[in-house]
Amino acid sequence: METAIYVIGWANNVLLIVLSVLALLLARRTHTATGRLLAWAVVTFTVATLAGWTPWAVGETDLHAWFAKVRLELQILFPFLLLRLAHAFRPFSDLAMRIATIAFALIAVFVAVIPVNVTSVDLDLASASVASLFLAYVGWVVVALLAVARRFQVAGRGQPGSIRRRMSLLSAAAVAMLFAYLTAFAAWAVAPFALMVTSMLLVAASTLAFVLGVAPSALLRMRWRRDEEHELREAIVALISAETTEEVLDGILPKVRRIVGASAVALLHQDGRPQRVEASTPIAERLLVDALCSVGSGDDPGHQLSIVPFGSGRLAIRTTPVTPLVGDAELELLAWVGTVVELAFARCAHLAEDRAVTERLREVDRLKSEFVQIVAHDLRSPMTAVAGLAGTLQARWEDIDADMKLTMLGNIGSSTQRMSDLVVDVLDIAHIESGELRYDIAPFDLVRVVRDAVEDLQLDAVKGRIELHVKEDATLPLALGDKRRHRQVVANLLTNALKYSPRDEPIDVHVTWAAHELVVGIRDRGDGIAESEHGRIFEKFGRAVVPSDATPGSGLGLYICKAMVEAQGGRIWVESMPGAGATFRFTAPVASH
Ligand code: ADP
Repeated sequence: METAIYVIGWANNVLLIVLSVLALLLARRTHTATGRLLAWAVVTFTVATLAGWTPWAVGETDLHAWFAKVRLELQILFPFLLLRLAHAFRPFSDLAMRIATIAFALIAVFVAVIPVNVTSVDLDLASASVASLFLAYVGWVVVALLAVARRFQVAGRGQPGSIRRRMSLLSAAAVAMLFAYLTAFAAWAVAPFALMVTSMLLVAASTLAFVLGVAPSALLRMRWRRDEEHELREAIVALISAETTEEVLDGILPKVRRIVGASAVALLHQDGRPQRVEASTPIAERLLVDALCSVGSGDDPGHQLSIVPFGSGRLAIRTTPVTPLVGDAELELLAWVGTVVELAFARCAHLAEDRAVTERLREVDRLKSEFVQIVAHDLRSPMTAVAGLAGTLQARWEDIDADMKLTMLGNIGSSTQRMSDLVVDVLDIAHIESGELRYDIAPFDLVRVVRDAVEDLQLDAVKGRIELHVKEDATLPLALGDKRRHRQVVANLLTNALKYSPRDEPIDVHVTWAAHELVVGIRDRGDGIAESEHGRIFEKFGRAVVPSDATPGSGLGLYICKAMVEAQGGRIWVESMPGAGATFRFTAPVASH
């Protein structure tokens, strides 16, 4: 029996030594506070256990009694270190931590000063001081380990699977350690072999669970995040219907955060700025953004930030103390998710392009039908007039007097002219829009062109209304452009001025020279145009809001003027206010300066 205890005991010691070394290595590798605390706790426990074997090494001597005291001190320190470990995962309140520290210190002092030979084998429980020491010791261990177990449980509550399971493992480790202590106490009192072996097994299991809980292996982490991986896979499948990058990120980032139990994750722009942050709380979001800034300065105080490069982007994740380690397996998984996100983005970009093309085609289609409708409508009234007048003349030629005949023929002429003008406008627009309108660019005398256009119109009934103002002695430079197109523009603006102003009001035309351009201004004294309409009237079919009996028109003239002026390097605009007439101006570049 004795030999069996020795064999099992030493097997246990060896295991504890191995676990201590492992814990020390993990602490070095992870550089975390929890890793360091665990290493201290396991080493403390191992030393305490080894100290219990001193009778075997040094015999039942005074030295052994001292070793036994040290051992007891270490066994008081061990639950305290576990408390600090749990505190590092999820902090206790300041008050709770202070009470625990005082309780630990009191018991430690008690053990240090008590005048007895405390050994593992001959405790005299009949002595009052030894009995109270024993009670205080047991009470401390029970309360501390229960608090540790509970704290881990609380830390995992409501968290993603990997964190929850990790915290449960640590909690179970604390409970196993509590039972190990209790069975050891019982074995101390009654010393049956079975209890001692059970205690040792519990110690080994608990220590292993602590090590695995603090630094879980990749395999364990993979098993823990099974549920979240499933969710992630479903989210990836759902990406098939995502149409915008926002939808992609909404679907994926929360899953990415949960799968590693991060407090916040961010997709980064090329320059490192976060494109989108997904965080458990606003504070977590700020911490991640702050951490990203400190990365720029080469500083990552908590070692809680991981940057995962993928394809052409990067993911940043900020872990918390309760997050299981983010190792190669997680980094690979996240990089893979990043690539999927990138593909989904590319798909969204194509979709958006397709949508824009469809939208454009639809708009072109709509404009075409509108165009056809408007042209058909504008052609119909002069056509009806021509058909009606021609029909009347034919049927009642003899009854109609000569003057009336002349008037009717005049109307037929003007209606036909309107139709012809409209057809010319439509053809011009077709050429402009297909880019086929040709311009014969050459230096020309703009004043001459304006004068010709004015003279053309003076032949009409409006004789004398249009006044051209060009200082005779002013030697204006030549303009550069197509003079035929410029004459068309001037004629169009003059026709509008005549159309939209009272018959007895004059129209002033000015040609001036400023910097590198010549400016033509045509001013009428009509009703003017509200400022809100100044842009619209230059659009295709754009007409200002006019009373229903207003002058007929197609809304194409100014659109054509604008296209022609701009194609020749000029600008066109209107200056007008309702009731104050309108001044249309356009510029033409100077040929040589
Ligand atoms: P249309 O005269 O055939 O309607 P335009 O493109 O030449 O087409 O003109 C567009 C609109 O601009 C006109 O319908 C009219 O509302 C407004 N407009 C143009 N010139 C003047 C002007 N001199 N005074 C007031 N409104 C004008």
